[in-house]
Amino acid sequence: MSNLGAITAVKGFRDVLPAESRHWRRLEDVAEKVFGRYGFGEIRLPLVERTELFARSLGDTTDIVEKEMYSFVDREETALTLRPEATAGVVRAYLESGLVQRDPTARLYYRGPMFRRERPQRGRYRQFYQIGAEVFGRDDALADAELLVMLTRYLAEVGARATRLELNSVGDRTCRPLYRERLRAFGLAELAALCPDCHRRLERNPLRILDCKVEGCQRVLARAPVMLDSLCDACRTHLEEVRALLEQEAVSYAMNPRLVRGLDYYCRTAFEVVGARLGAQNAVGGGGRYDGLVAALGGPDVPGLGFALGLERLAMVTGEPEVAAAGPLADILPLGDRAVGPALALATRLRDQGIEVALEPAGRSLKALLRAADRRGARLALILGDEELQAGRITVRDLDRHEDRRQALGLDVPGPELARTLHALTMESSA
Ligand code: AMP
Repeated sequence: MSNLGAITAVKGFRDVLPAESRHWRRLEDVAEKVFGRYGFGEIRLPLVERTELFARSLGDTTDIVEKEMYSFVDREETALTLRPEATAGVVRAYLESGLVQRDPTARLYYRGPMFRRERPQRGRYRQFYQIGAEVFGRDDALADAELLVMLTRYLAEVGARATRLELNSVGDRTCRPLYRERLRAFGLAELAALCPDCHRRLERNPLRILDCKVEGCQRVLARAPVMLDSLCDACRTHLEEVRALLEQEAVSYAMNPRLVRGLDYYCRTAFEVVGARLGAQNAVGGGGRYDGLVAALGGPDVPGLGFALGLERLAMVTGEPEVAAAGPLADILPLGDRAVGPALALATRLRDQGIEVALEPAGRSLKALLRAADRRGARLALILGDEELQAGRITVRDLDRHEDRRQALGLDVPGPELARTLHALTMESSA
């Protein structure tokens, strides 16, 4: 046989091990709880959609559609894509399921993996996870403010302290075209100082130059006209109403007139949650209003708004959970093969009572088994050797106090009593 090397994960794809997934689950559980108070129900979406859905919703001049999608043609020659984000899928489901008629102001939240073929680096992966929320059928500023209050409450509850909320308005169908032309004119006047990518953006979608990460471009763009100065009256009023409501609720935020969202369908309210200590990939999440999207995907002219948070980055700004996972209450130690059956019976009886117990394989010395129990952080060792089997008793050893309680437990004691006794023993030892 040839000596095959170990197979590794694909670049940009990673594993989430229990210590980390415990943290993630907490972030998800708090989302379920907090979002629930605001009337959001969970939607579970397919990971695969028709490529056309993203081409139509994201716009074909975005980085995502231009170069980051995992697209393939399946055996039936259907063009499919691993979802790079979930808003398009939520809108498709909202239309396809008939929610648009039954519950036009539906509030949906989702969580799960997204796929983008970006250059991997710290905080940036090719499969990453998002928690997001979408509100349909509301064009009033109250809906924007409510969503932002919920977002800040969520961030506070998960302990994401070193973050700030940045807000902007990116205008609408009335005023953005005028701004786009102002920006194009500015860019053309500064052409020599802009990167080749920006030259291309100026032709196809000038707003995207504001997103450019190249330092030379950033310097030029610091002088570029901003959307805030070009808002039409309706957009200006909407923004003022959102701000007044946020101020009423003492939501702290900063206006960032240079904030644009990477996706074409955003209008009016745009926002980002920025992590203070995250380095280059500092956006924890973002969102905004997308009033034209539902219509662009073949539905009626229904407004919408939402946000998405990156779970990896949220985990970075919230730190590890307060307590590491506690070890099992007891570790069952069968010394010889004869103890295997009784050990499993004992473990099952305790687990049926809702108690976490570990179960060691038989055939090692008592010393080795006790070391194993210690490593697991078990409070009690339940020893089953020949002597114990003969007497029909379990030797219980308190691993904190190193104390045998040989007489404490009969092997055939029913589960509930067994559970009560073990709990009582650990209470005594921590008293
Ligand atoms: P977006 O959908 O691009 O607005 O992204 C929303 C959030 O998802 C970002 O603020 C990040 O926290 C997260 N995110 C986006 N792309 C990635 C990625 N490649 N790796 C990790 N997190 C990401």
